[in-house]
Amino acid sequence: MRRVGVHTSIAGGLHRSVERAHALGCTTLQIFSHNPRGWFVKSISREEAALFESKKTLFDVSPVYIHTSYLINMASRNNDLKKKSIDMLIVEMDRADAIGADYVILHPGSASGDDEYVSRSRAVNALNEVAAMGQWNAGLLIENTAGDKGAISSTIENLSDIINGVKGSLIKGICIDTCHAFAAGHEIRNDKGIKKYSNNIEKYIGLDNVKLIHLNDSKGGFGSGVDRHEHIGFGKIGSKGLFQFIHYPTFRDIPLILETPKKKKSDDSHNLRIIRKMIRYMDSKVTVRNFRTVVQKIALNNNCSLKCIVCS
Ligand SMILES: [Zn+2]
Ligand SMILES: [Zn+2]
Repeated sequence: MRRVGVHTSIAGGLHRSVERAHALGCTTLQIFSHNPRGWFVKSISREEAALFESKKTLFDVSPVYIHTSYLINMASRNNDLKKKSIDMLIVEMDRADAIGADYVILHPGSASGDDEYVSRSRAVNALNEVAAMGQWNAGLLIENTAGDKGAISSTIENLSDIINGVKGSLIKGICIDTCHAFAAGHEIRNDKGIKKYSNNIEKYIGLDNVKLIHLNDSKGGFGSGVDRHEHIGFGKIGSKGLFQFIHYPTFRDIPLILETPKKKKSDDSHNLRIIRKMIRYMDSKVTVRNFRTVVQKIALNNNCSLKCIVCS
């Protein structure tokens, strides 16, 4: 069964995230292992780590993904920020190993006014500094970004340049964010576009190296460079496009993590319900062509209060 989860809060202790994920019926999860907007990081006690691991085993929540701090910019030309970013990434890797997390997700950084190529090389150098500092059980995944100003990692070729530039076994693959791919101008709303995207991954990265999909709809339009996530089916990609994407053979078995907005308490469960329905229909070998019938069937069987395009 395909693993599905949401980015989950650690408020009240790291282990609470696993309890929250389980309560939502999730079988995988992503967390920030600390406040992602501050440089101060409190260390994880042995008891805390053991509690997290025991809940993880009890509820069979796996893989566990840690999303790195927002403050990290491996491409920064400011030496102080670069050093802090390197140190912080090491902290993130250490914390992942402390709680038995499988992967750490990184947005490699942004060019901040410099040439994109120069900035990407700087990020590669900084990542090599991290790689030289230790070895971790957890693997680092590089995430594609939305192609906004200064982006150095919005195409598959960019990700490949970063992966190939970093020595050793620090990087274990990539995380594909559907909102970012779409905003960066990759047509993932139809089979033809998805095939092209998948072929690119095969050519530059290798299909086995896709370790996670961040499944998000997009508030911003196609090629807008705007990184704003939307509820599944409410955005510019739409439920049909996302359905086709997760249904495509390359992406069919890869765990899905939602990073959709959390404005109301019911938001996560609603988005999860739609995804589970998509997967169920997928498992019954529904073809893209009869997806309209699928949408109608979902509508008939649902009492969604949000009146989204899938449920209403
Ligand atoms: Zn993402
Ligand atoms: Zn994003």
